[in-house]
Amino acid sequence: MYKTILVPIDMAHVVEGKANVDLAASHCAQGSKVILLNVVEDIPNWAAIDLPAGQFEKSVELTTTELKAIAKASGMHMDVDVRVGHSYDTILKVAKERNVDLIIIASHRPGFQDYFLGSTAAKVVRHANCSVLVVR
Ligand code: ADP
Repeated sequence: MYKTILVPIDMAHVVEGKANVDLAASHCAQGSKVILLNVVEDIPNWAAIDLPAGQFEKSVELTTTELKAIAKASGMHMDVDVRVGHSYDTILKVAKERNVDLIIIASHRPGFQDYFLGSTAAKVVRHANCSVLVVR
């Protein structure tokens, strides 16, 4: 069994994210930790200048609330982590920082069945130092 499981969730595809949360629960032993992670995509400064003030803080707050609700619905204690950055390198950074031994990730966004792996999933599989479960 795994000690620390990271479940990165794309908030545009929460249904698939929830299925991966259930999968994480079934890979847990007593004392295991599950971390739900969303990365709020960072944008370049020249584009961010047009955003209303506090936009990122608002996104982080909303996402945190949504992930906490998903964690609560799972019936297990789960950590929630929301970061601003780029999806794949932030997923890898959090995995390293928090000593994750399993990442559970969807293979691609729904409807993209022709692709073996989406861009985020492919980079995570290639560069992670721990096991990665790719859910199709
Ligand atoms: P696609 O290229 O088809 O969008 P991705 O590889 O980007 O596929 O997404 C597959 C999975 O990667 C998502 O279901 C999710 O698990 C993870 N992921 C993608 N973007 C994010 C994000 N911003 N925050 C957390 N996880 C993400």
